[in-house]
Amino acid sequence: MPLRGLQVAVVGAGIAGLAVARAMNLRGANVTVFERASAVSEVGAGLQISPNGLAALRALNLSDDLAKVATQAQAVQLCDYKKARPVLRLDLTQLPENQIYSFVLRAELISILLRRAEAAGVVVQTDSPVDQIKPETGEICINGQWHSFGLVIGADGLHSMTRKALNGTLAPFFTRQVAWRALVSATGNPAPQATVYMGPGRHIVTYPLRDMTMMNIVAVEERWDWADEGWSHEDDPDNLRAAFADFTPEIQELLSRVGHVNLWGLFRHPVANVWHGGRAVLLGDAAHPTLPFLAQGANMALEDAWVLTDCLDKAGDLNAGLVQYQALRKPRVSRIVDAATKNARNYHLRWPPVRWAAHSALRLGGRIAPALPLRKFDWLYGHDVTRQKVADV
Ligand SMILES: Cc1cc2nc3c(=O)[nH]c(=O)nc-3n(C[C@H](O)[C@H](O)[C@H](O)COP(=O)(O)OP(=O)(O)OC[C@H]3O[C@@H](n4cnc5c(N)ncnc54)[C@H](O)[C@@H]3O)c2cc1C
Repeated sequence: MPLRGLQVAVVGAGIAGLAVARAMNLRGANVTVFERASAVSEVGAGLQISPNGLAALRALNLSDDLAKVATQAQAVQLCDYKKARPVLRLDLTQLPENQIYSFVLRAELISILLRRAEAAGVVVQTDSPVDQIKPETGEICINGQWHSFGLVIGADGLHSMTRKALNGTLAPFFTRQVAWRALVSATGNPAPQATVYMGPGRHIVTYPLRDMTMMNIVAVEERWDWADEGWSHEDDPDNLRAAFADFTPEIQELLSRVGHVNLWGLFRHPVANVWHGGRAVLLGDAAHPTLPFLAQGANMALEDAWVLTDCLDKAGDLNAGLVQYQALRKPRVSRIVDAATKNARNYHLRWPPVRWAAHSALRLGGRIAPALPLRKFDWLYGHDVTRQKVADV
């Protein structure tokens, strides 16, 4: 089903929506992106783009743009919360040459995707909330007006109305974890690595951004109660400092500089059962929201964008392409979402003897076979969707 001339509506101008707009546009589709917000912008926060996400960006001719604004990561370092004693190091310099792992501001990735999509002819309409959708006919309603498309791509995030139209309501559940997210200016000479400080019932991840001038902080705590799910609940930085008051002095110093912080509850959503129907299809968080413990949400969205476009372009008809897309993507994203969920459990071991034993085993394993921890992620980082064969389904 050649995409040339196909009229495509994308609901949502996040990473998934803008990436698929660019991908479809490169194959000749006429793409309009509808974003409900009045501007395509992003709260300042960092993202880790792993080699699997980069492979999709490379295929979209965007990897050079990313390299200009990203910090190339050299390691992921796990350590103990009290004394920052190293537990395990994933040495990212051992990855094959073309597998680059980097840190970037979300706003900068969004800006690259938007600029390059618009330059290629994608129309991005802000102030355009899609209120209703008829998947069978490819119709969407915006501000009371119905519009008809050959394909509607629901890249409308965590609370996707497209997912609801295809699956009904899928109830999420609170994971009993909340996360704070903050950016501070960097002091000294930060190492180009993500550092995970693991404590009882809590962990903190830090990494540098923007030529090492800023530090991104994600701090996760287990707790019983939470009212709402979302990204932009402002919190008092003192609550963050109090929750991590027993962490190492370097964390205390970092947190002492936090002036503004957002807090949100972490909910687990099932991966959608139905990804497409009629002329509508899901992409990114709309299809498979994930917990952030493997830093893969945006990377999966980039992979989706490329695979959906390629499947449609090569299939005999729309439905065959959509079936293929779901068959290729659902097993992989389900595995990633499960792995992310398990990570929190491993980071948060509470009982000191269990934590000591687990950390000691990791330390010893890392000493005996330093390359092995990274090799365990081959299935994730080494996966290049642009080389995946249809026969891989
Ligand atoms: C703390 C945290 C850290 C993370 N770190 C990483 C990381 O390091 N690496 C990584 O890969 N991922 C990370 N992620 C996940 C990643 O940010 C998301 O998975 C990714 O941004 C999802 O992109 P999306 O485009 O699918 O959805 P979104 O970014 O949510 O975009 C959806 C867009 O749709 C719009 N929209 C919604 N409904 C409508 C409607 N009805 N009409 C029109 N527009 C609509 C919204 O306004 C929004 O602009 C992290 C997430 C969190 C919470």
